[in-house]
Amino acid sequence: MAIVNENTDAKRRAEQRAALERIRNGLATRVRILVASDACPVCRAYEGAYEFDAVPELPLEGCSRPDGCNAVYAPVLDLYGP
Ligand SMILES: [Zn+2]
Repeated sequence: MAIVNENTDAKRRAEQRAALERIRNGLATRVRILVASDACPVCRAYEGAYEFDAVPELPLEGCSRPDGCNAVYAPVLDLYGP
């Protein structure tokens, strides 16, 4: 089981890294971490907008959600308002 979880984590990490790169190359000025309503307290604490060089890596370290961290990156488009 541990091996399966590690593979899933690595896959998620790679996917999130690619997503962050797409946002960085788009129109966004910053990046937001969005969490679902069933996210764990760790992920909730990280929810918010970040500068690109300060954003934590997803999945978030210390996430305690049984099915794995489901936090995602989303672009912050200051140019077009909230
Ligand atoms: Zn979590």
